[in-house]
Amino acid sequence: MAMKIIIVGGVAGGASAAARLRRLDEKAEIVVFEKGRHVSYANCGLPYYAGGVIENRDALLIMTPEKLKALLNLDIRTRSEVTAIDRRARTVTVRELPDGREYTERYDKLVLAPGAKPFLPPVPGMNLKKVFTLRTLDDADRLKETVVRSGGKTAAVIGAGFIGVETAESLTHAGVKTALIEKLPQILPPLDPEMACGLQTQLRDKGVSLYLGAGLAEIRETETGLALRLDNGVELAADFAVCALGVRPETELAKQAGLEIGAAGGIKTDRQMRTSDPDIYAVGDAVETPLAPLGATGIIPLAGPANRQGRIAAENIMGAGSVCPATLGTAILKVFNLTAAMAGHNEKHLAHNGIPYLKSYAHGLSHSGYYPGAFPLVIKLLFSPDGGKLLGAQAVGMEGADKRLDVIAAVMQAGGTIYDLLDAQMCYAPPYGSAKDPVNIAAMTAENILAGLVNPVYPTDLDRLAADKNFFLLDVRTPEEYLTGSLPGATNIALSVLRGRLPELPRGKTIVTLCSRGKMSYFAARLLMQEGFRTLNLNGGYSLYKQIKSEQEAQAAGSQPRQNPAPDATSSPAGCPKNAARIEINACGLQCPGPIMKLSAALNNAAAGSELLVSASDPGFKMDVAAWCSSTGNTLINVTEENRVIRACIKKGTGEIPASTDALNQPAPAAGSKNRTIVVFSGDLDRALAAFIIANGAAALGGKVTMFFTFWGLNILRRETAGPAAKGFLDRLFGLLMPRGANRLALSNMHFLGLGTALMKHVMKTKNVTPLPELIKQAQRQGVKIVACTMAMDIMGIRREELIAGVETAGVASYLADAQYASTNLFI
Ligand code: FAD
Repeated sequence: MAMKIIIVGGVAGGASAAARLRRLDEKAEIVVFEKGRHVSYANCGLPYYAGGVIENRDALLIMTPEKLKALLNLDIRTRSEVTAIDRRARTVTVRELPDGREYTERYDKLVLAPGAKPFLPPVPGMNLKKVFTLRTLDDADRLKETVVRSGGKTAAVIGAGFIGVETAESLTHAGVKTALIEKLPQILPPLDPEMACGLQTQLRDKGVSLYLGAGLAEIRETETGLALRLDNGVELAADFAVCALGVRPETELAKQAGLEIGAAGGIKTDRQMRTSDPDIYAVGDAVETPLAPLGATGIIPLAGPANRQGRIAAENIMGAGSVCPATLGTAILKVFNLTAAMAGHNEKHLAHNGIPYLKSYAHGLSHSGYYPGAFPLVIKLLFSPDGGKLLGAQAVGMEGADKRLDVIAAVMQAGGTIYDLLDAQMCYAPPYGSAKDPVNIAAMTAENILAGLVNPVYPTDLDRLAADKNFFLLDVRTPEEYLTGSLPGATNIALSVLRGRLPELPRGKTIVTLCSRGKMSYFAARLLMQEGFRTLNLNGGYSLYKQIKSEQEAQAAGSQPRQNPAPDATSSPAGCPKNAARIEINACGLQCPGPIMKLSAALNNAAAGSELLVSASDPGFKMDVAAWCSSTGNTLINVTEENRVIRACIKKGTGEIPASTDALNQPAPAAGSKNRTIVVFSGDLDRALAAFIIANGAAALGGKVTMFFTFWGLNILRRETAGPAAKGFLDRLFGLLMPRGANRLALSNMHFLGLGTALMKHVMKTKNVTPLPELIKQAQRQGVKIVACTMAMDIMGIRREELIAGVETAGVASYLADAQYASTNLFI
């Protein structure tokens, strides 16, 4: 007699089991009970359908009962809920939902694939009509109806797990202003918090308001929609809400039938998907499985494992003895332009359970940087200190995170180590990857740590180290990178000149090397270690540190909803008008500092006032270019983003930007360099005198001296005669209020309406002290480089023609480039 198999649940696990059963046994009687109206549909596409990204509803209905009957001879009974199991009689009770009619059905083998149900927190208001969940196609239909037909314009999504984030993105796509609420201080709990930072910024940039670290306390109905109160007291209004707080396994039937339930709350099965009753199998979201690579059990509600388990259950019903692998939880998510992928354990889990681990971060590109369309990505590896066994991995980037994580997950599933990733032979041609793929680079970084070639510290350690006087923070980035922002207290010596400047490093302290991505600083750390220094290297780099800080600031600011998408997310079409003179620079595929270096080089050759349009694919360029422009006296007109490419429009400042990259190519100064740099900020007579006396003294000793005049210090360099007439009112007013030149300066103390200053000049004369104008000339004769800061000139309305002869004008980059080669740097 043919075997009769009943399957409860007709979507991922249930449908897979049914299809496999038929292929293994043409004669078996296979009945699938599904309480919903649809079977084997694409529930993973529901968020995208609700927001209109997927337009065609039918595209989600992969199979219909009719098709399954025709193709596989399956007896599919929809709107039929299994309400009880009689294990002794081997029957199930079925209720037909349209009319409530009940009947029993006999089975030889039973497969439970009832999935999971959305978790609804016990807070008031969860049952309101305008509060939705998203589990079935009917749920998605209702949500779509609200968005499209009823014109819901504001939404609150509660829960920032996979479905919550996907729903927030999809609603935003539909033009709904969306707030995303999450009790934890980060989105996507399977990720570690630092890896979620960039995704959170992306959500904010795209107009999603993030409320992190605050749980939902109550929802009330108002005249216009809903009022949501969070447990930190924040109130927000929305036309409707979607509750996406995760799922709980559907175990009612199993419990009622006396099947064993596991510690994590799912139906307990063996590795062949058999429950505590040998005639009953269970698969999918309803079961708990061993977790790889370490082996505890847990519930991983993902489609891949559900489908695989369905197939394995079918094979074992037919006596095959197939074994289900432990679940890695390999998962992936699109967050607007970014992708986050993960597998295995995260750091939180390992730390919480006291499992020893090491970690490493590596930055790479989706494919060769010189081939168009390359985007950066970062990979975090977690591995055992004993042998490098892979314990977990996470990757975030615009492109290529999926491919890398798939490879790492496959190696992890096979029980592999970082050495296996080191040897992974990835396919490579420029449009697809790199000869050293990011997977290999991630493994190399991990290997260096494991082998003790470098002692790592991480971005989350940096503030603590900066505050500890036992550590010396050494920023080995180029001056261009340094101008994009730096850590207070860090000393900038570019890697390329480090060998010549070792005497400046304190031997009694631990040197913490840092750079953008952790690679140059690793080179520096290796150099220093071999020179006998104690070192720590910032693994993950300043770029990851910046992301973390920027997220902390956003959260400290209260994570208030943005009124608009981030200022740089929408373009101001008039911002960078296309004109014949505009210089266009393509820096796509370059990682920081590449785009800034290209911009800097182009600016050097451009005339003052020129406009430059830089295109870059490194998302970090957005922040970098703003900081760089403000440090160098250039004007950032706007930043736009289109098709994942950032375009920055920049107007060159009035001064010249020196080629600080040229400075980098110069030989490093010998130890004990005689070069000096002096920043002259003050316009007081006594301070100006001191500055020039020191400068002349230093020049006389043979060193190269640069004096950088900024703000009030600029007055020292002004001509006595009136400047050009064509100035605006404010600039003229500023000019009138400030002293014009070296002869008009006053003392910082004892000025006494000019009396004290006159007395000082008299005493200087009687004592044969050279007056300031002569000291300036002396300095110029000795070759002291006198530089006026273009940014301060711009602010104070001082024109180049107003300055005495022989003064150069330049931005901060010029000064920093010289400071790099100086052994003394004074601020007056
Ligand atoms: P389901 O596919 O949920 O099927 C269970 C079925 O059983 C349901 O249709 C239910 O109506 C029926 N049922 C329950 N009880 C009874 C009963 N007593 N009688 C009759 N029928 C019953 N996973 C990913 O890996 N990637 C994704 O991108 C992803 N996106 C998702 C997006 C959404 C909106 C949702 C809801 C889930 C998503 N998932 C995703 C999870 C994935 O869909 C599930 O892990 C997978 O569907 C689980 O399969 P299952 O067979 O266990 O349960």
